[in-house]
Amino acid sequence: MNTPHFYPVGTPGQPWGDNERAAWRARQVVQRSYADDVVAALNALPEAFTVVQYGDLRAGADRYPLLLAMTRDWNPTLPTALVTGGVHGYETSGVHGALQFLQNHASAYAGRVNLIVAPCVCPWGYERIQRWNHDAFDPNRSFRDGGLITESAALMAWIAARNDNLQVHLDLHETTDSDAHEFDPALASRDGKAWVPESIPDGFYVIGNSENPEPDFQKALIAAVAPITHIAPADAQGHLVGLPLQSNGVVWGESRSIGACAGFTDARFATTTEVYPDSPRTSPSECNAAQVAAVCAGLDFALSSLSPP
Ligand SMILES: [Zn+2]
Repeated sequence: MNTPHFYPVGTPGQPWGDNERAAWRARQVVQRSYADDVVAALNALPEAFTVVQYGDLRAGADRYPLLLAMTRDWNPTLPTALVTGGVHGYETSGVHGALQFLQNHASAYAGRVNLIVAPCVCPWGYERIQRWNHDAFDPNRSFRDGGLITESAALMAWIAARNDNLQVHLDLHETTDSDAHEFDPALASRDGKAWVPESIPDGFYVIGNSENPEPDFQKALIAAVAPITHIAPADAQGHLVGLPLQSNGVVWGESRSIGACAGFTDARFATTTEVYPDSPRTSPSECNAAQVAAVCAGLDFALSSLSPP
């Protein structure tokens, strides 16, 4: 395309059609393996967890089993917690944080809470380090009733059919520099809108559900992560990603109404974590550890609130 544009695909002011989506898709290259990194890790989990296929993703010529791990010795009298990672497949520490939680920490919660962990909701995006799915839809805007994309709809349907006592949902994300130079321009181009650059928060933060805020729950996550990686300060307007800061590292955002994963259950304690992996002050292993700390702190806070000592 010869039109001067802020993104290599599309025409300014014109939403994408099938040709632009195909041109965008042709630019996406497999860079890592879901089978090696995720499926193999799930299959190597301890006996205390069972691996369940909740969906079957067909993406062009590719096919991915959608998998989660759950407590094998399920006790219906206990609360249930859901952990999701890789809703945005490029957000690496969400996937590996969820897996490391399963490998190293989840067993410690046996007998206190039933766990469901879906570590890589969007495997096509994981393999291509891409925010969207194969059809250029954002999975984290697609958790809606009647949702049209398999990645979101399959998990929603599976959870809904179980009718568990779901009290906690931690959805693990990252905010990255590539949001500013790739994914935000791609979104504006796809929708035929002007691109307005946004600043990327320098550090970890959480987005609590403005439709159901639990301020002390969010604060507990920040307190647990702060010793591991730095917490994002507000920008000059007192905001993080355009949302007013509520307390250190905490903002409220709409979840259910925008189709975000963190809003699709009725869990009282629900949040979106946002690790910042591109700082020279952090490392991939630190980012994974931050996600794990957030999950453990969220579970600990929720369990002590649900059944005080
Ligand atoms: Zn994300």
